[in-house]
Amino acid sequence: MAEQDIKDKTEKMGFEAEVSRLLHMMVHSVYSDSEIFLRELVSNASDACDKLRYEAQTDASLMQDGGEFSIDITADKKAKTLTIVDNGIGMNRDDLIANLGTIARSGTAGFMDKLTGDAKKDVQLIGQFGVGFYSVFMVASSVTVTTKKAGDDQAWTWESNGEGSYTIAETKKDGAGTEIILHMKDDAEEFLDKWRIQNIIKTYSDHIAIPINLTTEETKPAEEEGAEPTTELVTETVNEGQALWTRSKSDVSEEQHEEFYRHVSHGFDKPAHTMHYKVEGMQAYSVLMYIPSERPQDLFDPARKNRVKLYVKRVYITDDSQELLPSWLRFMRGVVDSEDLPLNVSREMLQNNPTLKRMSGAITKKILTELEKMADKDAEKFEKIWETFGSVLKEGIYEDFERRDQIMKIARFKSTGVDGWTTLDDYISRMKEGQDAIYFISGAEGDILAKSPQLEGFRKKGVEVLLLSDPVDDFWMQMMPQYEGKTFKSITKGGSDLSNIKSEDGEADSKEDSIPEGEMTTLITLMKEVLGDKVGDVKTTDRLVDTAACLVADENAMDMHMERIMKAHNQLHEASKKNLEINPSHPLIKKLVEKAGDKGATDGLKDPVLLLLDQATILEGDQLEDPSAFAKRLADAMAKGLA
Ligand code: ADP
Ligand code: MG
Repeated sequence: MAEQDIKDKTEKMGFEAEVSRLLHMMVHSVYSDSEIFLRELVSNASDACDKLRYEAQTDASLMQDGGEFSIDITADKKAKTLTIVDNGIGMNRDDLIANLGTIARSGTAGFMDKLTGDAKKDVQLIGQFGVGFYSVFMVASSVTVTTKKAGDDQAWTWESNGEGSYTIAETKKDGAGTEIILHMKDDAEEFLDKWRIQNIIKTYSDHIAIPINLTTEETKPAEEEGAEPTTELVTETVNEGQALWTRSKSDVSEEQHEEFYRHVSHGFDKPAHTMHYKVEGMQAYSVLMYIPSERPQDLFDPARKNRVKLYVKRVYITDDSQELLPSWLRFMRGVVDSEDLPLNVSREMLQNNPTLKRMSGAITKKILTELEKMADKDAEKFEKIWETFGSVLKEGIYEDFERRDQIMKIARFKSTGVDGWTTLDDYISRMKEGQDAIYFISGAEGDILAKSPQLEGFRKKGVEVLLLSDPVDDFWMQMMPQYEGKTFKSITKGGSDLSNIKSEDGEADSKEDSIPEGEMTTLITLMKEVLGDKVGDVKTTDRLVDTAACLVADENAMDMHMERIMKAHNQLHEASKKNLEINPSHPLIKKLVEKAGDKGATDGLKDPVLLLLDQATILEGDQLEDPSAFAKRLADAMAKGLA
């Protein structure tokens, strides 16, 4: 066809009114995120290849180039053009009019709804929405699209400067696919730079599964002196091209997973567990996620909740979506690739997006089910993961009402009854006759916790106590006071209830060598007088065996450890008064009982009684009110003992 013929057949058409409005903004505004135009073009090219691949499944004759798809980008600094070529499905005349002249996509329509008419605000929206093909007019003063649909003979060329109208004409083109030439604006020449282009592709499109080849002109120094430097065209494949998650599970090796895991996690460890699956049907998405084997640095950084990357149709969207996974799964690393979300979805749009919500719910459920299975089949592997991330998972107990029970089922705890970890179900199966509560003690460090005096009586009776040393334990405990109908009961608070529980030898209680309750009254009255308002109450207890006295919170008060946490966070100024509990079978208490009836006993026993309280305070790991008075009392007592 001669040049003249083509010109004659050129049709001029107006853009749909809304497109015109949109383009007017694109053309006349400077937007800092204009680099996304390339993401959009590459994504369209990749989509076009996907579509042809699909069509060719039923009509193999459509496929040319031996099925080798590629996206070729050429930057020509002299001509100031950037050309993007794909060998995908291409477009016919009707496609061009429908796709590049109207707003057909719901995403763009949504964008139009959001437009305020305030140019400044609207310009911000452009970057957030991407708005697909039309974003080229942020960087190009005119655009030429030459395209031929697979299976057609006729090729078409579409041209526009984005100002109100475009032209369509017949043209010639070898092979199916689309070539888009951008005539760059003066202030957009940076996008002709090799490094800039490479960088954009790495950032947004690295995992597009089709090779993205970049051709640029490179200048070589002259070989002989005085000769002109030579320029040559250099072509390189820029993208990694490994959309690992789109492959079938069996096609990905362990090494590939490790490499990809490091890429997404920026870590150096190996994944402790890999989840790779695809969902089709009502919703379509792929998941490739890893549980790290080591705690990521920012695990407790409140600013970063989630690091799983969200892709839409192989195009990277964000790794900062708070909606993709609940924050108690923030240790997960990897990729979720949705087929249902619009590609131009903005972070704003992700909030309260029902599609994302449904997907997030399903993925969360799947992760928990997977952990459940692992806990069942490979307890060792699961417990390692629990050791690393259990404290984060437990946040779900108070943050996620729906998942609470599921998390409690898999949760592992340290306990006085076992060496390693135990589940609550296993704990319950070991409960003693007459025991109706799940006993626990919470505190800062597991080892110190296991030595707490309050445990003595429970140990002696063979009653198991959970050792809770995670700060988070005190929080979920508030929300979840029961498990399977059994109440959680702190052994540092209220009565011990130990007398109801039969001891190992079957006896209801073993008070053999302790002083009967009645004979304690005089001492207790004396102690209350000496201690005054330093304590809430003084009581005898059966929770102690080797220790003379300990502090316990009142039944209705806050647990002692919780109180300490609150104080440390300045959320509590005045601590509640503790009860001092004394051990009626301890030699020291027996001695005190003997002396309590003597004349002038209150004065004589003042120091020993105060020392008992000091000791109990130290055992709690708390600060003494008056350390120097304590030192003096202790020295006096030792001097007397040595006399
Ligand atoms: P979206 O990709 O979200 O549909 P775009 O504005 O990016 O929106 O593109 C509009 C439409 O133009 C696409 O849906 C597609 O039908 C068509 N299109 C764009 N680029 C190409 C291409 N390189 N090859 C074939 N069709 C294309
Ligand atoms: Mg697109």
